[in-house]
Amino acid sequence: MKTYISLWPSAAPEAPFPRTLAVLGSTGSIGVSALRVVAEHPGLFRVAALAGGRNAKRLAEQAAAHRPAVLAVLDNATANELRALLPAGYAPEILTGPGGYETIAALPQVDLVLSAIVGAAGFLPTLAAARAGKRIALANKESLVLGGRLIRAACRASGAIVLPVDSEHNALFQALCGHIEDGHGADLDKLILTASGGPFRGRDAAFLAAVTPAQALHHPNWSMGAKISVDSATLMNKGLEVIEACQLYGLPVERVEVLVHPQSIVHSLVEYIDGSQLAHLGVPDMRIPIAHSLCYPLRVSLSMPRLNLATVGTLTFEKPDEGLFPCLRLAKQAYAASHSHPAVLNAANEVAVDLFLSGRITFLDIPRLIETALERHAALPDNADAADLLAADADTRQRLLADQA
Ligand code: NAD
Ligand code: MG
Repeated sequence: MKTYISLWPSAAPEAPFPRTLAVLGSTGSIGVSALRVVAEHPGLFRVAALAGGRNAKRLAEQAAAHRPAVLAVLDNATANELRALLPAGYAPEILTGPGGYETIAALPQVDLVLSAIVGAAGFLPTLAAARAGKRIALANKESLVLGGRLIRAACRASGAIVLPVDSEHNALFQALCGHIEDGHGADLDKLILTASGGPFRGRDAAFLAAVTPAQALHHPNWSMGAKISVDSATLMNKGLEVIEACQLYGLPVERVEVLVHPQSIVHSLVEYIDGSQLAHLGVPDMRIPIAHSLCYPLRVSLSMPRLNLATVGTLTFEKPDEGLFPCLRLAKQAYAASHSHPAVLNAANEVAVDLFLSGRITFLDIPRLIETALERHAALPDNADAADLLAADADTRQRLLADQA
């Protein structure tokens, strides 16, 4: 096994505390949880920059608490609103527009970047952090799906490292530590990603045909942003995560399995060639993988109820139903098809999720749209760069929206 971008103990570069942190997507679910970890361990971090989308109010509160010198938002209207909400005597630089996130990701004073913007919008900022040699705590799985090859290449060239925040990949990282020294893993057989199964596990096609956005947004175990909640309901989240695992750990897609585990206590497993399976268990709270990736190799205490297996009682596991939830199969097929098909899969999924949330398509239309987009795509040449992949992303969005008009 080749480990491309995760950090292995033997390769750990010095990263003294306090670490200077930039949070991209600070106003989202992951960003808020990350700042709770920071607030619990203020001696470990200096917050240098915070970036949100359009939520000026929440960003102003976070900025007032952490006092970073640089902020970023999506547009001028949000920047003006934000400036008016900041406390007197505190005047950080406020960047606006998509380029601001890339600037923040590469700030010379920043050594740790939490990439937690949702969707393809996180790709260029993550790539900028990789090119700038940063330690990247990566929540934005879509950037690895869209352009994992380019991010890996940028990390190899710059010495940047990626530490997975996604709970399954963080679990794998923890179960691999100490086994995969020096980037070789001959004793590794496969990775097993667990999935909650989402809110519609066990339902039939007739039920799925009529589900509403509100039902899809109601995840049984995790509290998350809207897009990833719908992705969990379609199992596309697991599909994206299979690709994320392949990109992070360098395994072919056939050696990454998915196991539905409705209790969300076992966060993933690694199977070695002797048949041993090593798992990571914990309560379903993203502060655990966030803190692990921000502090690695240090472990820190977190104020939350501990896992009590006697209380949980029963852990169950079953195979995913790829017939009823075709998004998982589509993601694996896209990864096997070419290096640009995953970019199209991701773009089509973002469009389909938006259309579903705005009531313009049904839940079962989501995989149909994605399949149409994948069928239309001709693989890009091997040397495709970020602009080429983003052009394929834009083209996919345009054509799917034109189909709906
Ligand atoms: P969210 O919707 O709660 O937050 C998204 C953040 O990105 C917000 O700060 C928002 O303002 C910002 N944003 C949105 N669009 C943007 C744009 N175009 N440009 C710049 N910023 C923009 O999402 P989330 O649930 O926190 O998820 C963030 C990422 O983390 C996603 O990639 C998701 O897949 C991943 N992730 C989330 C969880 C979770 O528990 N929430 C778990 C694992 C992985
Ligand atoms: Mg996950």
